[in-house]
Amino acid sequence: MLLEGKKAIITGGTRGIGYAIACRFIEEGAAVTVFGSRQETADAAVEKLAAAYPEAKIWGRSCNLTSLEAVTEAFTQAAADMGGLDTVVNNAGISQRSPLLDYTAEEFAKVMDLNVVAVFNGHQAAAKIMTEAGHGGTITTTSSMVAKYGQPSGVGYPTSKFAVNGMVQSLSRELAPVGIRVNAVAPGVTRTDMVANLPEEVIKPIIATIPLGRMGEPEDVANAFVFLASDMAAYVTGAVLPVDGAARS
Ligand code: NAD
Repeated sequence: MLLEGKKAIITGGTRGIGYAIACRFIEEGAAVTVFGSRQETADAAVEKLAAAYPEAKIWGRSCNLTSLEAVTEAFTQAAADMGGLDTVVNNAGISQRSPLLDYTAEEFAKVMDLNVVAVFNGHQAAAKIMTEAGHGGTITTTSSMVAKYGQPSGVGYPTSKFAVNGMVQSLSRELAPVGIRVNAVAPGVTRTDMVANLPEEVIKPIIATIPLGRMGEPEDVANAFVFLASDMAAYVTGAVLPVDGAARS
């Protein structure tokens, strides 16, 4: 098992890509704390995971990810529950597809707060706990294929994911000396609630442009997170790994 004995935090771990990451991490031997936007959704995810993996060590938490103080406190408590912290996945994120002239300042700030500020908070809290414990670890964030070419509407989302890539590349260099590897996974269109809410006329032409001929499944993306959190990726840091079927639009 690739993550035997590792202790992991996964934000946005209650559904979609984050839930698939939780499943794959557990299958590979990790203890996992899933963070949800509300305690009830975190509890529901823990119940579902415990039913699927009766032997697994699983906890559920929620906190305001956009508050550095709240994240530091919640991650510290999660590490205490699990008996340590080896790997953090910053996965919670939101999308917003408004065209520029309809985009409100509040919508823009909301996307930046969760997709960028919360990711900064996750990196700082994780690095603090790992360095104080005197060992390294891994931090992996969910970016997106839109951080390559942007997208034709909804400027906040690609802007936030370009920022994620910049943060990951910078922090991989800053945290390498203390043994913390920092990477991102950049999924293409992946079958989750985020995509299910898009109209069919938006989805169909997108699939037509994907050379592998299908949408990604959450498990496809989760497997990349397993690799980056594992010792198989011991010399991989600062990477933004595409999992997009070679989609280029
Ligand atoms: P999803 O909507 O199914 O899940 C989002 C997760 O984020 C949920 O667990 C939710 O609880 C959490 N979340 C949302 N708002 C939150 C808040 N305010 N505070 C705390 N947690 C909050 O979406 P998904 O498709 O699984 O997306 C997960 C990540 O993958 C996101 O970062 C997203 O940008 C990225 N992504 C998704 C796709 C895709 O096609 N689905 C493609 C590229 C990147």
